[in-house]
Amino acid sequence: MKALVTGGAGFIGSHLVEALLARGDEVWVIDDLSTGRFENIVHLESHPHFHYVIDTILDERVVAEMTRKVDTVFHLAAAVGVAYIIDNPLKSLETNIRGTELVLQQANEGKKMVVVFSTSEIYGKANSQPCKETDDRILGTTTITRWGYSSSKAIDEFLSLAYHREKKLPVVIVRCFNTCGSRQTGQYGMVIPRFVKQALLDHPITIYGDGQQTRCFCDVSDVVEGVLGLVEEPAANGEVFNLGSDEETSIEALATRIKELTASESVIEYIPYEKAYEEGFEDMRRRVPDLTKIRETIGYEPQVSLQELLERVVAYFKK
Ligand code: UDP
Repeated sequence: MKALVTGGAGFIGSHLVEALLARGDEVWVIDDLSTGRFENIVHLESHPHFHYVIDTILDERVVAEMTRKVDTVFHLAAAVGVAYIIDNPLKSLETNIRGTELVLQQANEGKKMVVVFSTSEIYGKANSQPCKETDDRILGTTTITRWGYSSSKAIDEFLSLAYHREKKLPVVIVRCFNTCGSRQTGQYGMVIPRFVKQALLDHPITIYGDGQQTRCFCDVSDVVEGVLGLVEEPAANGEVFNLGSDEETSIEALATRIKELTASESVIEYIPYEKAYEEGFEDMRRRVPDLTKIRETIGYEPQVSLQELLERVVAYFKK
């Protein structure tokens, strides 16, 4: 396969690039290093099948040139992380909406398959769990930044599906649920790298809200496996899939587990949401993916338990 990975210097992108190269594929990366980091791909620089451009996906000419070279586009370049989105609302909307539109437009010129990375944020504050791909989206008002992000990713999905239906563009949409692993930074708000770093430094572990909210964390290797499985499966074309793990934990239990795993002296601190994010911030009490569709389509099964995932992240941060 000849693949373009937009956002290939990011956390998930760089793991996907490594997996594609390991299979013998030729890979091009475009990344503007806004949240991606050059050090995530520097070890690949001398690989004969690896090419990269540091540029934005908002540059139509560059995107056109790169999509012409490949047969599959993995589109990950996007604003990421709840904290980042709240700090950069305009840039987030522009990158997510205009960027995806450009990528789809250019991919459509040669009918190149596009794998669009979407998010569980799509479901909003869904009250029925687990979330199924066909569930309603429940969003709050426009003055809450988080819902703008959720909407921008929904527009990405609408655009992808419209290109598929009207222009016969091959697309697969994956909704990732709390992906974690090495190279993920806590800088944009993600809870596991934040807690692990806090614990290793014996700093307070900062639980937002009462800690009874739950999430399911998935190791990035399982996400990459799932994506590669979907790309090979003709029945996935034009479809939307949840992708993650369905092992659920409360954030409070996560904090305790990380504290124990690192033998940390940290105290656990509870911080109100308005202080951590912004006035009126809304969180999901539970978020669990229904994985029936991806299980039935490609036999997907996450391999890495939460315990194993945490051990990997701790080892990464220690190193
Ligand atoms: N969270 C927390 N402390 C932190 C960072 C995040 O308690 O330092 C909480 C956050 O409010 C959310 C959960 O952990 O309820 C997961 O947050 P993350 O940003 O990793 O992902 P989300 O599920 O919100 O997209």
